Amino acid sequence: MSSTELPKHYELFIGGREVPSSKGEKTTLLNPANRAVLATAAVGGAEEARYAVEEAERAFRSGWAEADGAHRARVLFRLGQLLSERAEEFSRLETLNQGKPLRESKTDVLFAARTLEYMAGLADKVQGDSIPVPGERMDYTVREPIGVTVHIAPWNYPLQLSVRSLAPALAAGNTAVLKPATLTPLTALAFARLAKEAGLPDGVLNVLVGPGREVGETLVEDPRVASVSFTGSLEVGKRIMELASRHVRPVTLELGGKSPNIVFADADLDRAARGVLYGIFLNAGQMCWAGSRLIVQRSVQEAFLGKLSELARKLKIGPGWEPGVEMGPLVSEDQMQRVLGYVEKGQSEGARLVTGGHRAGAPGLEKGNFVEPTIFADARPDMAISREEIFGPVLTSLAFDTFEEAMALANDSTYGLFSGVWTKDLSTAHRAARHIQAGMVSVNEYPVTFPQTPFGGYKQSGIGWEQGIHALDFYTRTKNVNVFFGAPRKK
Ligand code: NAD
Repeated sequence: MSSTELPKHYELFIGGREVPSSKGEKTTLLNPANRAVLATAAVGGAEEARYAVEEAERAFRSGWAEADGAHRARVLFRLGQLLSERAEEFSRLETLNQGKPLRESKTDVLFAARTLEYMAGLADKVQGDSIPVPGERMDYTVREPIGVTVHIAPWNYPLQLSVRSLAPALAAGNTAVLKPATLTPLTALAFARLAKEAGLPDGVLNVLVGPGREVGETLVEDPRVASVSFTGSLEVGKRIMELASRHVRPVTLELGGKSPNIVFADADLDRAARGVLYGIFLNAGQMCWAGSRLIVQRSVQEAFLGKLSELARKLKIGPGWEPGVEMGPLVSEDQMQRVLGYVEKGQSEGARLVTGGHRAGAPGLEKGNFVEPTIFADARPDMAISREEIFGPVLTSLAFDTFEEAMALANDSTYGLFSGVWTKDLSTAHRAARHIQAGMVSVNEYPVTFPQTPFGGYKQSGIGWEQGIHALDFYTRTKNVNVFFGAPRKK
């Protein structure tokens, strides 16, 4: 697979048409597996951001919000179907731009398609309540779309995470401006064109590539914007919350994690080893929900680490488009250096390197951003590799003796996004699920989520929920209506 099949240049997509950068700026996109130039993409600035909001606002007022929910459902369902039909094409684009193996890209694309179908099914079910009140009155609530919604996406699941927040926003009758990460805008731009083909009216979805500081902040601060859905790092999430607070603008923040994968001695250790492996090395560990802390019962620690490191050493590393590849490159050279920096830090802080720890240097990989699957054992909870989000293929292992110790280690984090529990004992599983301070707990499977199940974090992993039926709440507001129908009082 090569970049020759791609257009050489991608424009912004605003108001249903391709729009060049007003200043003629563009970014060069590199293939992370070999750093070859893939294409260029137009880069917008504050002017384009304001224009995108203007188009989204116009589209909001010209009928999408008032359209019959069943109409919106049909358009979104068609879009989901088109995306499924073109899954191969979108997966190739994602793999070339982001680096992950084709199999993973395809899972992401089909997840996005299924999200669209799921939210399409809810589009005509956005309804209020009738509330009993005293006297000759009727009281009811209606749920209205909120207006122009802004969506800021990261580079690790470029299409899937964009669609995750766009689908409920559009289903509820809002319009949207999406700002994908500048490193990985290709599938989002292709998706906007597909949405037009599916019948989404012009201006309902606008996609704008550009620097977060300029484009992102202009969007967050625009007085015509009703909400901001942000998925990305903790630092930028804080900045967005601060900016949005100036305008009392609601935000959802889907931020980072340092998720525990807890293996009890009674678990099926072979099964657990596979789950822990995929939980950290899928997407080369560039996952907010990565199970980056293995918390393993001391009595099985060495046996478990043995199984795990054997599996890790066998993982086939290579360009995402090659058959059988199980781990691709990191998204950029910067990200690779950052990850290698953590590996160095782990060693200098005294953790034991069980496997990996270097750039992957097999012939053919030298030009790419490849890092070996890396496992540290005997880590202390206060080490940087135990506390900070590395966002790469690096697992930190900590040992426990008792259930209480396992819970204390699991909860010893400023984050609380995902968590895994491996045990055959039903009461251990449920007790752990009750004690773990995280938005999601998965027993004997990792990582797993569905469009119909909520995704969100405790603590500094974020605010609000994506996916599931309640995701619609953020994109609607409730209006209470009271009607007095009693006879006028006699004087
Ligand atoms: P990032 O915060 O650097 O960037 C995310 C997006 O924000 C990009 O589109 C970027 O251009 C934009 N941005 C940057 N500065 C901005 C600013 N000042 N104002 C407005 N927008 C700005 O994150 P990243 O490096 O792309 O992604 C990795 C991070 O995302 C990790 O921390 C990861 O855990 C997190 N993440 C969370 C989830 C989740 O669902 N909780 C999912 C995926 C990734």
